[in-house]
Amino acid sequence: MAMRFKQAENERDVNCPHSVHVPFERGNTMTDRPVLFDSHVHLDAAEFDADRPEVLRRARDAGVEQLLIPAVSADGWPRLHELCAGDPGLHPAYGLHPCYLSRHADDDLARLGDWLRSHPAVAVGECGLDHFEEGLDRARQLRLLHGHFEWAHHFDLPLVLHARHAFAQVIEAVRAFGKPLRGVVHSFSGSLEQARELSRIGFLVGIGGPVTYERAHRLRRMVASLPVECLVLETDAPDQPGTQHKGKRNEPAYLADVLGCVAALRGVDADELAQRTTGNARRLFLREHLPAVR
Ligand SMILES: [Zn+2]
Repeated sequence: MAMRFKQAENERDVNCPHSVHVPFERGNTMTDRPVLFDSHVHLDAAEFDADRPEVLRRARDAGVEQLLIPAVSADGWPRLHELCAGDPGLHPAYGLHPCYLSRHADDDLARLGDWLRSHPAVAVGECGLDHFEEGLDRARQLRLLHGHFEWAHHFDLPLVLHARHAFAQVIEAVRAFGKPLRGVVHSFSGSLEQARELSRIGFLVGIGGPVTYERAHRLRRMVASLPVECLVLETDAPDQPGTQHKGKRNEPAYLADVLGCVAALRGVDADELAQRTTGNARRLFLREHLPAVR
């Protein structure tokens, strides 16, 4: 098995190479069902405080063995670290979400570097640009995003990007950065051409609950024709429930609904799609050097 974190050669810092989680398969050794990877789930959110163990058990029962949990603000990093340290299938990403600008202090970006030096992570994020919500200083969002790019490059970690009404701007920011980056743009709803462009610059796209809505014609057309190599699945729980759980709290167990919907849209077998998308997520976040195509 490959080490998750690249060993330091030229770079001064490495993100905790001594404390990698060992990927494992739990439960699925008993069945032939492929493992699912929820590439974006806020399991640390307060919405799960009352029943987190049950939520996680339902996820595992649905085949969701691996979960990437992206932080949204610095005050949540210690709790997220604790949550993930207790379960080798839970993988943290640390960052400063653009929708919580008021919670970020000026020195949080510097703190992020210190944090990543001493706490294992599979990615940097959630970070990005939100041009949908009113009152979010766009210049400050861009400065923060750039800071995350610097840390991702420095620690050789992928990025978990949020882009809302800002896909073109995020692509532009990655291009303008100039140094190699990689990662995922989560809850992607841009064009097929933007997805291809993201793939060219090292980014996959995350697809979740919104695709299950029949009226999401444009998104569904895009998902149907996207190369599978570009694709990972996510729930974004507790947000963005699919059509079957509209108006309710979303859960990682519902990733199976996203899988079923995406498989149907693409006219492929769900188990095969699960294998392919889980493989994509593992290569990106767990550094498993699996073959890209079976
Ligand atoms: Zn999120």
